[in-house]
Amino acid sequence: MALSVKGFNIRIDKRAGTVMAKMKHQELLKGLIRLHILHHATVNEFYGQWMIHELARHGYTLSAGTLYPMLHGLERSGYLKSRTERSGRTFRRVYHATALGREANKLAKVQIRELVPELRRSRSRAHAGD
Ligand SMILES: [Zn+2]
Repeated sequence: MALSVKGFNIRIDKRAGTVMAKMKHQELLKGLIRLHILHHATVNEFYGQWMIHELARHGYTLSAGTLYPMLHGLERSGYLKSRTERSGRTFRRVYHATALGREANKLAKVQIRELVPELRRSRSRAHAGD
């Protein structure tokens, strides 16, 4: 089951909280989606439709109308670069990470590795003395 709000669809996932909570915090989650995009852009070139499928695999069902402005934003910020590629009779835009994008991805990885163990710990026991 999926829900759509302003082009931002989220699959219901019991492990990761309620749909309402995800909708309420979609701006925050967009940060994680951007990091996910940047990660893949450092591994391989991709085109928009591929990324839509990849993000869906992780529980984010984005419309093209939501993804493309994010890609353009990342390109404007200098993290991604795109080129037009011919695919049969049509053309598609292919994205890859720039040197700045690779640098930002490395930094994000360090910060995420720092955060994840703490998130895991706080799931198993409540904070004492906070
Ligand atoms: Zn992925």
